Amino acid sequence: MGMSRDITAGSHVWVGDSELAWIDGIVINVYAAEAEIQTSDGRMDVEAPAGGVDDMTKLSYLHEPAVLYNLATRYEINEIYTYCGNILIAINPFQALSHLYDVYLMERYKGAQLGELNPHVYAIADVAYRAMIKEGKSNSILVSGESGAGKTETTKMLMRYLAFLGGHAAAEGRTVEQQVLESNPVLEAFGNAKTVKNNNSSRFGKFVEIQFDKHGQISGAAIRTYLLEKSRVCQLSDPERNYHCFYLLCAAPLEEIERYKLGDPKSFHYLNQSNCYELVGVNDAHDYLATRKAMDIVGISEKEQEAIFRVVAAILHLGNIAFAKGEEDSSMLQDDESKFHLQMTAELLMCDPQALEVALCKRVMITPEEIIERSLDPLGAAVSRDGLAKTIYSRLFDWLVNKINVSIGQDPHSECLIGVLDIYGFESFKISSFEQFCINFTNEKLQQHFNQHVFKMEQAEYQNEEIDWSYVEFVDNQDVLDLIEKKPGGIISLLDEACMFPKSTHETFAQKLYQTFKDHKRFVKPKLARTEFTIAHYAGEVQYQSDQFLDKNKDYVVPEHQDLLSASKCSFVAGLFPSLPEETAKSGKFSSIGSRFKLQLQQLMDILNSTEPHYIRCIKPNNELKPALFGNVNVLQQLRSGGVLEAIRVKCEGYPTHRTFTEFLNRFAILAPEILEGNYEEKVACKWILEKVGLTRYQIGKTKVFLRAGQMAELDARKGKV
Ligand code: ATP
Ligand code: MG
Repeated sequence: MGMSRDITAGSHVWVGDSELAWIDGIVINVYAAEAEIQTSDGRMDVEAPAGGVDDMTKLSYLHEPAVLYNLATRYEINEIYTYCGNILIAINPFQALSHLYDVYLMERYKGAQLGELNPHVYAIADVAYRAMIKEGKSNSILVSGESGAGKTETTKMLMRYLAFLGGHAAAEGRTVEQQVLESNPVLEAFGNAKTVKNNNSSRFGKFVEIQFDKHGQISGAAIRTYLLEKSRVCQLSDPERNYHCFYLLCAAPLEEIERYKLGDPKSFHYLNQSNCYELVGVNDAHDYLATRKAMDIVGISEKEQEAIFRVVAAILHLGNIAFAKGEEDSSMLQDDESKFHLQMTAELLMCDPQALEVALCKRVMITPEEIIERSLDPLGAAVSRDGLAKTIYSRLFDWLVNKINVSIGQDPHSECLIGVLDIYGFESFKISSFEQFCINFTNEKLQQHFNQHVFKMEQAEYQNEEIDWSYVEFVDNQDVLDLIEKKPGGIISLLDEACMFPKSTHETFAQKLYQTFKDHKRFVKPKLARTEFTIAHYAGEVQYQSDQFLDKNKDYVVPEHQDLLSASKCSFVAGLFPSLPEETAKSGKFSSIGSRFKLQLQQLMDILNSTEPHYIRCIKPNNELKPALFGNVNVLQQLRSGGVLEAIRVKCEGYPTHRTFTEFLNRFAILAPEILEGNYEEKVACKWILEKVGLTRYQIGKTKVFLRAGQMAELDARKGKV
């Protein structure tokens, strides 16, 4: 299995070199499992060439070019999956490879040993499932990668495979696993959108917990979501789109279009800020019906579905209410069209149109002495309108998640679960804001989890083999995490303080950061910056623009909006805005998005820490979203920031090469032919060779030889001279 089909005489390959780390060479001859290679400095070398191994730890030399070359050659022949030890690397094919996902393949992976068959997501899911059954322990599969790398598609395949393993064969009606699977299209319709990076980009993080009973059958599930991007509801940049559901509804059957007074998406402000309306290969009318069907299956009633889409339509009308300058600093509806949309919004939300207008255009100020009504200018009214749209939409999304959870149901008796995490990858934009800050914070957390795990496993292997080892340090990102989340004193704490102090501005907040962290290794104040700050994340530096940090951190619903909608005659709408207990409403105590997110993440880490993790790193091979294009620089960057190379590095700092005595002797006995004559114990023979060659710092365990980085290359070089 080791050799790639397309390594032929004449292929250019990378060969490990003790001085240069790697050196290029040309394949002279190809044998069953090895190739004879002439390096550019004229040496001859025999090894399994750095192309086409399905597990990169089988590469003789672990270094960037070898890893990259291996992935590229495999990708060329549509081998999109490759192991790196027990990490699965998945490179987005950007084309349907249906032969890879056939049901008969599911049958084959069932119960197969990892490594027995080609690398696959099914193999990872199978390992997780077997481990759960055998050890009675929860497992988790962490899928990561940048936007468009294929996380969501991978997650869906994992879920399908787990449903296949733990499904209720021939069960009647809606099964738990069917509901779990159908939650995907529902959440995608409301939580995914076209972005510049991905036509179906998830704008929220998701952790799906699939629960199993003692027979290994799926008995329940819970879906947790994280931080939906709210701003998209009312703000778009070309050529992106708003959430899919808006376009689906505009393509609904005529009767619905008329009922909601909808029509061309181009006529709605929340959609026409971008010139993109249609997606290649997507039929919104078809997807509308498919979404309704999926909603049926997950247990959302006909009546609830009607209310959901009524609210979606209301948001579109709400966005079309424009304001003009009224008397003094007040604002009024711009024209008859705005009046019509106000009327429609109120009708669909089943609230009073006058009250809606007041809630949009005025603010009530409560001072100890009196209650003052203050008018908003047209700009303020538009901000108020957008705020309302965002609040309604995010409440609607939360309602959906909650409804799906209630409907699928949790199994209180389940002892084991498999969690599948599909969460946003590391982000760095020209202008990175609070959202990127939270996303990158998530990635730091997951990276720490990854490091600890990879490191722990490596050490466990050393312990098993009873070798002496003392290295305990590994690259740790605790310092970045402290910078962000330490309480008190971290950035989130300082942000909360700033939000509670009425006179703060983003400038005072930035100054406070500069002052507090001026000596922090991971914090940089860019030259000349007044409000920007840079964090040196494990995956690279990101410069954040602090302008909107304060606003975005405040989870605040205007009381007028709250009152308006909790009084709606539609119980569904009123239910999205449950009245708050008197004190919370009055105290005006602000609730911090950053702190809540931090808490959610901690809960996620607690769950993950109680499970046996498996990692899948998705890679986006090009930014054109095209098949068969493998961009080296792109891929390398992702391998670095996804921690794959870091994992390799962690290994390299210890004993990256482990070979069983037999493997070692097969390869190097030639260095000490005399041992073949005596009848030595394998272990003794290995030691003999190593001593003869004069290596130091290696270790001999119970069954394996442990070599330091570069030692394998040294041994090979010796072989060349024999
Ligand atoms: P985001 O972070 O933006 O949500 P993502 O990592 O979830 O991105 P996906 O939506 O899973 O990315 O994948 C993007 C697109 O790539 C898919 O819509 C699909 O067209 C293609 N794709 C991903 N994985 C596969 C696959 N295994 N086979 C075929 N196409 C795929
Ligand atoms: Mg996604």
